[in-house]
Amino acid sequence: MTYWILRCRSCRKEWKLNVSYPLKKEFTKLYHYCPFCRKNTFHDIIEYVE
Ligand SMILES: [Zn+2]
Repeated sequence: MTYWILRCRSCRKEWKLNVSYPLKKEFTKLYHYCPFCRKNTFHDIIEYVE
């Protein structure tokens, strides 16, 4: 199982996103739905786990 640890820039919570595709090294932030904010926010990518 591959997943990313993301941290929302709005609420600062860290959470896990399961992904089925590899992360590009230059990828350091992601605009994605935050389950805590319940809206799309910018996230920092903390960790990439395979
Ligand atoms: Zn959030």
